Amino acid sequence: MHGAYKVPYASRGSILGATEATALGQLLESGESLSMGTWRERFERRFSEYAGTRYALSVTSGTVALELAVHLLDLAPGDEVVVTPQTFQATVQPLLDRQVRVRFCDIDRESLNMDPAVLKGLINDRTRAILLVHYGGWPAEMDEIVTMARERGILVVEDCAHALGARYDGRRPGSLGDIGCFSFHSSKNITTLGEGGMLTFDRDDWAERIDRLRSNEVDGVFVDGSASPLDAPELLPWMKYSSSVYRDACLGVRRSGTNATLSEAACVVGLHQLDRLESLVERRRAIAARLNAVVDRHPHARAGRPRPGVHHAQHLYTCFVSGPRGTREALVRGLDARGVEVQLRYFPLHLLPEWRSRGHEPGECPVAEELWFTEHVNLPCHPGLSDEQVDHLADALDAALEDARAVIENAESRTGSRTTVPSMKETSHAAH
Ligand SMILES: *Cc1c(COP(=O)(O)O)cnc(C)c1O
Repeated sequence: MHGAYKVPYASRGSILGATEATALGQLLESGESLSMGTWRERFERRFSEYAGTRYALSVTSGTVALELAVHLLDLAPGDEVVVTPQTFQATVQPLLDRQVRVRFCDIDRESLNMDPAVLKGLINDRTRAILLVHYGGWPAEMDEIVTMARERGILVVEDCAHALGARYDGRRPGSLGDIGCFSFHSSKNITTLGEGGMLTFDRDDWAERIDRLRSNEVDGVFVDGSASPLDAPELLPWMKYSSSVYRDACLGVRRSGTNATLSEAACVVGLHQLDRLESLVERRRAIAARLNAVVDRHPHARAGRPRPGVHHAQHLYTCFVSGPRGTREALVRGLDARGVEVQLRYFPLHLLPEWRSRGHEPGECPVAEELWFTEHVNLPCHPGLSDEQVDHLADALDAALEDARAVIENAESRTGSRTTVPSMKETSHAAH
């Protein structure tokens, strides 16, 4: 099916309205700076209070947040970093061109988060950091992972791009490891006009480093005309000419930085989006509960649920269908034919060409591979869906799961026995 789906996958993950429009209009008409004002600080303060960290520093995207987080790790050649393969490329991309060994850690079958038991076997004395994602908004098993990391002085970076609004035993993602990275892209749980990101952590020295890095690495103080770099002898003739004019005109730059600061317009919208966050996430959770109830009626389908104390933000809705070859395809085709847009998020990263060319291969993360190639489906689940769309989605899922069951029953009647999913070898070949 092409073009207009009755139930589209999210192009916007949030709802914006009159409060954002009014605040933005006032800022535009005020004539104030759109780059340097008070909104950024207010947005960051609110965000750090929400996340439960000493610092929240805004940047221009989630990708930039992850790049700067990796910068803070001070990785050296030969160091090792353990990462999850079940995430968007941006989580691991900052490691691509560093001389570090990347180890992909297989995932848990229910949550699709990094499996702590597998992680344990991948850690050694060269491991410097763990980069994980709270897949779909379901917080990873942070108690186990952080305990393991702390014992060995390993830093934990949380990619929280999906997890804004989630809770983990009363705490918020972004405060559970050492560094949290958030995204405010249009598709995420809240947005700052389409692009934006945030870093969260507790360390003073990191706050100073990120603040410099994101604003061209300037010292932040004007260099006195009598001090370096204006005291260079070759500049003396100019300085004598009218030195008092130059005195406050030179900002010292320490090393290469970048400009990754978030605009005032983005921050004022972000502040209002935080007010909406709870109701946005409640809507996501209500849609997910509705879909879970449908999945539960079908023995060949399943959808994972977090343990008590773990609160899913439902950035994504994920379910699984198992059966012989063709079962998942029947579900996807059945949904598509009924006007539901389906996505498979995400293709296991270690099988992408950029990681294959660096020596990674099928079989490295058997669970991530098996689930993605045979069982895994993501359905629309976002607050922009109307009640009618959610009704349609639930009915379409029910009917498409019946389509999938027909494939299983056909196979069983042909072979006269129960069939199983294709072997790992077969699914590995499908990746080539
Ligand atoms: C969206 C996303 C990012 C990147 O965020 P941007 O703001 O789009 O750069 C990183 N990681 C995950 C898991 C994401 O979903």
